[in-house]
Amino acid sequence: MGSVQIVTTILAAAITAVAVWLAVRAVLKMVAVIRLGQPAPERFTDKVARARTMLVETAGHTRMLKWGVVGAAHWFVMVGFVVLSLLVLEAYFEVVTTDGGLPIIGHWTIFGLVTEIIGVLGLVGILVLMAIRLRNRPTRPGGRSRFTGSTMWQGYFVEWIVLLVLIFGFVIRGFKVATDHFEFPFWATPVSHAVGAVLPDWADGVSVAAAIKIIISMTWLIVISLNVTMGVAWHRFLAFPNIFFKREPTKPAGSGLGALRPMTSQGKPLDFEEADPEKDQFGVAHVEQFSWKGLLDFSTCTECGRCQSQCPAWNTGKPLSPKLLILSLRDHAYAKAPYLLAGGGKDLTGEEKATQAQLAHLDVLALAEADKPLIGTAEEGGVIDPDVLWSCTTCGACVEQCPVDIEHVDHIVDMRRYQVLIESSFPSEAGVMLRNLENKGNPWGAPQNTREDWTKGLDFEVPRVGEVDDFEYLFWVGCAGAFEDRAKKTTRAVATLLNEAGVKFAILGEGETCSGDPARRIGNEFVFQMLAQQNVETLNEAFEGRDKAKRKIVATCPHCFNTLGNEYGQLGGEFEVVHHTQLLAHLVATGKLTPVQPVDGGVTYHDPCYLGRHNRVFAAPREVLGDAIAGDLTEMPRNSERSFCCGAGGARMWMEEKIGKRINVDRVEEAMATGAKTVAVGCPFCSTMLSDGVNGKGAGEQVEVIDVASVLLRSVKPEQPQGGKETTPVGG
Ligand code: SF4
Ligand code: SF4
Repeated sequence: MGSVQIVTTILAAAITAVAVWLAVRAVLKMVAVIRLGQPAPERFTDKVARARTMLVETAGHTRMLKWGVVGAAHWFVMVGFVVLSLLVLEAYFEVVTTDGGLPIIGHWTIFGLVTEIIGVLGLVGILVLMAIRLRNRPTRPGGRSRFTGSTMWQGYFVEWIVLLVLIFGFVIRGFKVATDHFEFPFWATPVSHAVGAVLPDWADGVSVAAAIKIIISMTWLIVISLNVTMGVAWHRFLAFPNIFFKREPTKPAGSGLGALRPMTSQGKPLDFEEADPEKDQFGVAHVEQFSWKGLLDFSTCTECGRCQSQCPAWNTGKPLSPKLLILSLRDHAYAKAPYLLAGGGKDLTGEEKATQAQLAHLDVLALAEADKPLIGTAEEGGVIDPDVLWSCTTCGACVEQCPVDIEHVDHIVDMRRYQVLIESSFPSEAGVMLRNLENKGNPWGAPQNTREDWTKGLDFEVPRVGEVDDFEYLFWVGCAGAFEDRAKKTTRAVATLLNEAGVKFAILGEGETCSGDPARRIGNEFVFQMLAQQNVETLNEAFEGRDKAKRKIVATCPHCFNTLGNEYGQLGGEFEVVHHTQLLAHLVATGKLTPVQPVDGGVTYHDPCYLGRHNRVFAAPREVLGDAIAGDLTEMPRNSERSFCCGAGGARMWMEEKIGKRINVDRVEEAMATGAKTVAVGCPFCSTMLSDGVNGKGAGEQVEVIDVASVLLRSVKPEQPQGGKETTPVGG
């Protein structure tokens, strides 16, 4: 060992010792913060499925690759990080001696070849990512950026470190080539040989370059250890547990979607018959009331902004960005953590838990952070502004896009639950809807005895459950389908088609009440449970004696479809629920319905969020339309998984949209830009929102918004009177 090697070895050892000490301290701090969250025992089930999903999602980059070039570039950088960590390890041997290398595998030609290939691809990958970040920088003139609000220096810092580490990997090898210490042949390591050809024959070059590489790597470790909220770096480690503990490990994509989580206290679902707000947690009022998985979510956010780029609220000028919401919660959690870790916090009656002595030596900033209300305006010092909280349509685009499986919708609804149930604080116009649900069992407050009015004028009898018991499908009509004029046309079309196809079906009629979806999504879990329990009882009675496979329900409303199929199981109701487009596609495919006259004029299809993204039903409505229309379906640019919300979900249907551009107008402009004369939908709320949008643009005579079932009916029974356009919703 020469004098240069003595210096490089000491430098490498010293900076590594500091970095490792800081990293251990940072990891302990993060673990302590995450452990402040509430229990979530359900996250420990299905460990094999969880491990499989984690490996598939990370190795396969299932979300990222949907973004094409950026996904591929990130994959190479990720693989490069894992494999080339071995080369960082090797650098510790190289600072000691110029011909040092990794023991055993470091001398295999295959090791030289693989690391060479990954080094080159990693270099290309990181240059592509750097170019993409620069091209999308928020400060560039004109245009929107998914990085708006992201901490840009952190992204640039991480990318430069990766670039420099990769470059120095080749410089070390180059010096080995130049000094004749390189053992791999040219065919396996051509780039290293090319670098060696231009480097001088400097005997200590290997050790010096290796020391620089270690210093760069450890600088990265020191910086991220001093910044525990630096998700762009920490996600390299946190993404694995965050994906492993995702809510629905068996669902490959959109994992946090579909059902909402039940309201829990101490990790146990709340039963409102016994729940007590002084003993049980009702939703989330303080950041530590999220589960530990919530706190892990916040820590893992990479600030990539994919969620933000797809969010209908953000894209129409609302203050909600799912990314900024997660970042606000993360920063608040870590800033408040010293107070919580000292024993601070409020009990469920609002009393401080810590003694004065416990808080005596606390940083004033942590104490100030602890005083911030979780939901509050800027003047109130709130962490999340109420306008942010109430802008969400629960469309799920954010969860769908998030490469590290953050579950934004669950967190938003948990915060809404506290606001609604304890604070009674929510947009006042939604109060009418909630009162109607409680008193009349439907959001419009229509009389229950008019639920079957849609059957009037049909040329066949619609059977009720109880009058017949050999029905195959229970037709769940839904409140919109029973009371709202446009939706009633869909209900009649579906009933007519089922009758035409010879499907035995029956309705509950006046026995049906609202599924509870709007109550649950606005945060009123109490009203949801009340309605859902009543429906589960009614449905269990209707299907008495049948096993699950024969408890079949067809629903026209994707919100009912989702709630009955995915959420009633939480209350003891297990049913096989299909959307009407799925059943109609099956009836056409099996020859029970035959389209005879293609509908022309150009047709586009709007994917309802609760049918498509939340429940992955993309093909069935397209199959029905493919059979019923002339020519091909014209897709909008944002379709299927990336469909853009109509603006009605998350109970937004019953709230005024006062900020920014109207979401339905944005969507209608996209639909009209396709040139289609018909906008087909599969949801009564989308139908209302898009019809309003079309009418608002004065295009009501040129463009028709119509359910997929009505398109099919026109094709199957062209002689059937279709009725004039009805545009006045109940109560509207
Ligand atoms: S669910 Fe939809 S509206 Fe809500 S934050 Fe996510 S993308 Fe935005
Ligand atoms: S929440 Fe997910 S998609 Fe959104 S910025 Fe963070 S990592 Fe990216």
